[in-house]
Amino acid sequence: MFEYAPAPESRDVVDIQPSYGLFIDGEFADGTGKSFKTINPASEEVLAEVATASEEDVDRAVQAARKAFGTWSAMPGSERAKYLFRIARIIQERSRELAVLESLDNGKPIRESRDVDLPLVAAHFFYYAGWADKLGYAGYGANPRPLGVAGQVIPWNFPLLMLAWKIAPALACGNTVVLKPAETTPLTALLFAEICRQADLPPGVVNIVTGAGETGAALVNHPDVNKVAFTGSTEVGRQIARSVAGSGKKVTLELGGKAANIVFEDAALDQAVEGIVNGIFFNQGHVCCAGSRLLVQESIATELLDSLKRRLGTLRLGDPLDKNTDIGAINSAAQLAKIRELSDAGELEGADRWSPACSLPDKGFWFPPTIFTGVAQSHRIAREEVFGPVLSVLTFRTPAEAVEKANNTPFGLSAGVWTEKGSRILWVASKLRAGVVWANTFNKFDPTSPFGGYKESGYGREGGRHGLEAYLDV
Ligand code: NDP
Repeated sequence: MFEYAPAPESRDVVDIQPSYGLFIDGEFADGTGKSFKTINPASEEVLAEVATASEEDVDRAVQAARKAFGTWSAMPGSERAKYLFRIARIIQERSRELAVLESLDNGKPIRESRDVDLPLVAAHFFYYAGWADKLGYAGYGANPRPLGVAGQVIPWNFPLLMLAWKIAPALACGNTVVLKPAETTPLTALLFAEICRQADLPPGVVNIVTGAGETGAALVNHPDVNKVAFTGSTEVGRQIARSVAGSGKKVTLELGGKAANIVFEDAALDQAVEGIVNGIFFNQGHVCCAGSRLLVQESIATELLDSLKRRLGTLRLGDPLDKNTDIGAINSAAQLAKIRELSDAGELEGADRWSPACSLPDKGFWFPPTIFTGVAQSHRIAREEVFGPVLSVLTFRTPAEAVEKANNTPFGLSAGVWTEKGSRILWVASKLRAGVVWANTFNKFDPTSPFGGYKESGYGREGGRHGLEAYLDV
């Protein structure tokens, strides 16, 4: 293996303030509640002090969004589009700054925030800007109306990308928003607030309230919110579904997953190995649609696993700001504890654990890429979302068995199929109960493509023309 000299991205491009307030009605304002610290998970360095929005603050933000809704929704779509295009272009112009800040606050490698997250964030704003004046042609009636104020709660794994998935379609359709970023990753949402000001977005159209679960609950339960959009754990998704039931609020929930990545014996193995690595080790496995269950046909299992292990030996774990880094830091101490607990359970239940030789930095939260073989379907690591760089390997003999095992999960967000036969891809895809099925690739995202789940992975679709429906009164 090559020796790589460090190639750190400079953090001088970001200007992190010591403390941040809330973004309400176009202004940064102090919160009436306490504050919390956001840290760099790769070093445990405190990055900034951030306000916790109280119920009262959330109420102010919802009122600001309500006030702005009148003019924003009455504006011609072509005018709203100009703001969205402007935001998209500023995101492109400031993409290096946003990528560095995302890596600092989240722990993800700069290579991913720079080359995956940020281009997709800009693409989402460009894409939905294009819809703003064509809503009458989207298949939801000649003059579809927006819903009103959208309360949006997002997780920490793709902070800015989840913000774009939520805010871009909401604004294109004429809604105004109050968004709560995750407690561990508030900084890029606050920089996005600054971008809204730079774009001269009318005050109150976008409001950002930072805080923990209580702030999220206050937002979701606010009586003047018309639409709730949530991405996060199935457990919190269930609570939200219960709390808004009967309220008349429109809801979309994008929850967890336990995707099967199915490799048939006729697959191009080197490509499959890359796809497996991308499927589970991208973003440290903090991906709801991660290919966390590898289903490999028994006849090629040994050969495939040998190649996979060799490939894992070449992954570089360490400083997220180093451009050579493949695997960054785990986002928080709590998430690291969860990954450790589930991995220990895997060993206790009898699966074989393997990681490449890999030294972990002394400070920060780290977990090596890990493979479990000899996994039974009943094991916790085969059933529960680990949300970390941990792959469970199961084998199958026939296509029918592969489908049966792939569908044997309470989730249904995504899946992957590796085979050279197009007919087999179509057959398997038609049998899988998963919102997205990738064929001979994995973790490919595009703003034009709808995304969402079956069963406990939630309901509603985000992205594409389908993603408009969630923000229209149809
Ligand atoms: P949560 O579902 O708790 O967090 C998602 C968002 O919801 C955060 O902004 C969170 O705030 C907020 N929130 C928490 N409680 C409430 C509530 N009662 N009402 C409204 N909003 C609330 O996920 P965690 O961060 O705790 O992660 C736990 C597990 O969830 C992970 O290990 C993973 O398995 C799964 N997960 C799945 C994701 C996905 O994309 N499908 C994304 C993230 C996690 P706060 O940040 O303060 O907790």
